[in-house]
Parts: sequence; structure tokens; C-alpha cells
Amino acid sequence: MSGTRVRDDAATIGSGITVVGAGVGGLALAVALRRAQISVTVIERRSDPREIESGGGFILWNNAMKALRSLGLAEKVLAAGSSLHRLEWRSSGNRCLAEWPLDRIGNDVGESALGIRRNVLQSILTEAVGPGVLRLGEVYQRFDQRVDSRVDVHLASGESLRTGALVGADGINSRVRAQLQGGARAPRYAGVHQSFGITDYTLDNSAIDTFLELVGPGLRFFVFPVGNGQTYWAAACRASHRPSIGAERPAVEKDRLLSRFAGWPPPVEALIRATDPAAIYRRDIVDRYPIRAWGCGSVTLLGDAAHPLTPNLGQGACQAIEDAAVLGRYLSDGTDVGGALRGYETSRRSRTSSFVLRSRLIGSMGRWQSPVACRVREHFIRTIVAGPALRRHAADMAYEF
Ligand SMILES: Cc1cc2nc3c(=O)[nH]c(=O)nc-3n(C[C@H](O)[C@H](O)[C@H](O)COP(=O)(O)OP(=O)(O)OC[C@H]3O[C@@H](n4cnc5c(N)ncnc54)[C@H](O)[C@@H]3O)c2cc1C
Repeated sequence: MSGTRVRDDAATIGSGITVVGAGVGGLALAVALRRAQISVTVIERRSDPREIESGGGFILWNNAMKALRSLGLAEKVLAAGSSLHRLEWRSSGNRCLAEWPLDRIGNDVGESALGIRRNVLQSILTEAVGPGVLRLGEVYQRFDQRVDSRVDVHLASGESLRTGALVGADGINSRVRAQLQGGARAPRYAGVHQSFGITDYTLDNSAIDTFLELVGPGLRFFVFPVGNGQTYWAAACRASHRPSIGAERPAVEKDRLLSRFAGWPPPVEALIRATDPAAIYRRDIVDRYPIRAWGCGSVTLLGDAAHPLTPNLGQGACQAIEDAAVLGRYLSDGTDVGGALRGYETSRRSRTSSFVLRSRLIGSMGRWQSPVACRVREHFIRTIVAGPALRRHAADMAYEF
């Protein structure tokens, strides 16, 4: 390679993995590899992975907490978040449609579900990765697979790293994936945009351990505590076209939400009012259809880069964390890089695809807005969500990896 400097790490798993992306998935993988005493370098274009959407919150379901326990992080994450004991669906007319006993599922699985701020989780993971792993402010550009099975990873700075394996954990618009697939393709817009924020507004005692989902014509509103006395809310709004206004015009966004959710049951309006307009974010909701091939040779994908999903099941970050725990285990079990990567992909493909497709289905039902469709959806929640979907969720949470 002319004009580039190649830093030569040794070829085997034990001596070097390069991860692109210090999101939840990339950081969790780095923790897993460090615990297995495998050398890892994480390339991240941002200058500080802890600084991310201060208004963002997550549900970390029981399955993600199990994976985090395997990484030695469950207690820290539990202490920083807020355990959830109930999930309740209500209509925009304030009728209870269904309830899930999250505490009982937590007891059965051995881990509870919890709400946590996105930047708090990023901080815990960044701290756990430790020094000398993250290369911040570096933009990944492309890779070359070598005949000796190692990979040359090229950065925008002109530097190249020679590594035993490359993991693209670079999110929904992954460059690693684009190269593997022979070109970048736009994700699918799900016809919904989601605004969200975090406020100090304190939920009353009956709601303090509850994940509340309110459902109305073309609109849904989600509320859960995220620890430290704070509450996360998100408003999903049907929108056929990608909206032209967003977080760059925060006061407009807050007024728009107050008008769309006027008259909804408490605490909807109070939460929007209590949130600083500058701390309200908005995202177009997108995903991609599941693919069979996540990688080849010594390259693979992880998290949203492999299987981006809409947030309807709250499983995007949870699946990225599971991927990390599973890939860490495959890589620590042997020295055949290609075999470890293909084994990981095979073990993850069907589970993650199922979440992508179910999340897509729920999102499309969430867009329904005619009175008849809304009645059908309420019936679906009372019958299917309260029964078979609860049993499926409990089985999903008990996943052994
Ligand atoms: C509104 C909303 C609500 C959500 N709620 C939940 C929830 O409750 N529970 C849940 O589990 N999931 C939720 N998700 C999904 C979750 O946010 C994602 O699935 C998760 O963040 C994916 O993590 P990741 O590490 O794969 O990718 P990302 O978090 O996207 O991280 C990718 C990283 O790669 C870096 N990067 C990208 N390109 C390059 C490059 N060329 N060079 C260097 N670095 C690069 C980026 O800067 C970024 O840090 C939600 C998503 C949205 C939009």
C-alpha cells in the first residue's frame, strides 16, 4: 500500500481484533474481549463515546441484563438505572388494555428489566473498557482482506492497521456492511418519527416502577423511569414522509407535541411541558430487512450494523449487547478466526431476524389511525398481547447464550 503506514499486529485471535464503533455494541464487545485477555482496538469517530443524546433512554430487558452480568457489569448498571416491575398498555381514552408482570418474569429469569439513560450506560461501558483501547476521533474508511487471513483496516487519517479480525459495530449506516454488500443502501423508513426526552418530573408512586405505553390514532406515547429520579418519555407519531423539522428547531417540536397529544391521560402533557425544549430529540424510525451473510473471511458485523430494528420491542441495544457477549465467547474459545465469526453469525441470525420482523409488525400496527383499525388494535392488545405475546416475551427473556 503506497502512502499509508501499516501497523502490524499479529494474525491470531489472541493478538488483535479491531472493532469499528464505540456504541453500546462495540463497547460491550471490547469489554468481553478484554475479559478474555484478547487484545482489542476500537475505532470511534466521536471524540467522547460518553457524550451521546443526553435525552436518550433505554429499556434494558432481562436478556440484556443477563448478557451484561456475563460481562461483570450487571450490578453497576442496576445501580444506575431503575428496575421495572410492570408494563401497562392504556388507550388514549385511559382504558387499561393489558398488563405484564415484569417482576414475575424477572424472578423466573434471574434478572430484572430496567430503564437507564443512554449516556449513563455508555459511561459505564467506556469505563469498563479501560485505557488504551479506544481510538477516538478516528474515522474508519474501508478494509482489505489479506491472503494470510488478516485484515488491513484503513482510516480517513491515512493510517492503516493490520489486525486478526474486523468487527463492524458502526451502526445502521455501517461502512463495513456497505463494503461487504458491495455498496451502501438506504435503510427503510418505517413511516414514523419518534421524539423523546428526559425530565426531572417525578412519577407518582403507583407509576414509579412501571413502563407505560399509551396508544391512540397514529400516535403512541411511552413512559418509564431511568434512575436518579428522572423519567424518560417518547412520542411515536405516524408520518408518511420524513419530517422536515426536528431537533434543530426544539421549541417548534415541543409545541407540535403538546398540540398532537392534547387531552391524553396524565402524565403525557405534564412530561412534555416539564422537558427543556433543547433536550427534546427526534429520530426518523428506520430498519433494514434481515440479511443472511453478516461477514466473510475475518470480517463480521454486530448490533445495528448487522440487524437494525425499529424500537417497538426495545431490543436494538439489547440484541447488540447479546451479540457482544456471544461473539466474545466464540472468539475466546479458539484461534480459528473465520470459524469463530461464522459460528457467531449462525448462532445469532435467527433470533435477531425474529426481533427485526416482529418489531416491524408492531410498528406498522402502531401507525393505524382509523376508528375501526384502532378498535381492532385495542382488541389485539387485550387478547394477543395479554396472552400469547406475554408468553413469547417470557421465552425471549430466558434466552441462554
Ligand atoms: C428513539 C429510539 C429508541 C430506542 N430505544 C431502545 C430501547 O429502549 N432499548 C433498546 O435495546 N434499544 C433501543 N433503541 C435501539 C438502540 O438505540 C440501537 O439498537 C443501539 O444503539 C445500537 O447500538 P450499536 O452499538 O449497534 O450502534 P450505534 O449505537 O449506532 O453505534 C455505532 C457507533 O459507530 C460509530 N461510527 C459509525 N461510523 C463510523 C466510522 N466510519 N468510523 C468510526 N466510527 C463510526 C458511531 O459514531 C457510533 O458511536 C432505540 C432506538 C431509537 C432510535
